[in-house]
Amino acid sequence: MNMKIFVDFDNTIFDTRHQFLDDFFGVFDKYGVSREIFDSTLSYFSKTSLQTGECYSPESHIREINKVTKQNIDERQFLQEMEIFLEDLEKYVFEDFYEFANNFDKKNLIILSYGDSDFQSQKISGSGVKQFFEDAIITQGDKTKEIEKYMQKYCGRDSACVPVIIDDKFGYFESAKNSQLNIKTIHNVRGGELCDDSKNCDKHVKTLREIKKSLS
Ligand SMILES: [Mg+2]
Repeated sequence: MNMKIFVDFDNTIFDTRHQFLDDFFGVFDKYGVSREIFDSTLSYFSKTSLQTGECYSPESHIREINKVTKQNIDERQFLQEMEIFLEDLEKYVFEDFYEFANNFDKKNLIILSYGDSDFQSQKISGSGVKQFFEDAIITQGDKTKEIEKYMQKYCGRDSACVPVIIDDKFGYFESAKNSQLNIKTIHNVRGGELCDDSKNCDKHVKTLREIKKSLS
């Protein structure tokens, strides 16, 4: 089977939630930002991004902190320091990723990440995983639309070319299943919440190791 596998980045390939988050906060900490302010302004982004369409970036985060706290942090200097931190992120890649990637031909693996273009690019590049992928797509919109565009471009009418999406957020799977392409959906659980809608989730995996060549 000729598959094109679209792999989510945050919390699928890259452990964004744990040590990375603490070390990322470390850059803010150097500029006198408390963890409390960091966390509360961060949750502001996750709450409002759906309504405003604005994706999270360190740039808008530090601007928001300056607005809320009137701390007057030098944004340019902060962003320069953040850029340096984001250059070397290999240690936050989930270990099972490498085993997974080596099971597949690079030409069939595509990163599909939602978020701010610059910030996601920096993270992807800093993580060093790009070499395992044919392409990396960053979107601020619907992932299914991106898959449809990509499949049209690279698979054309080849009906043996099957799109697969791997994501820790099963919210993306509803539109994937509504697509004419009949996208195969793999929910990467990693200890989180199970998809309660079995019609949208074809498979649950706890680690990427479980995803073998056959995908069965
Ligand atoms: Mg994710």
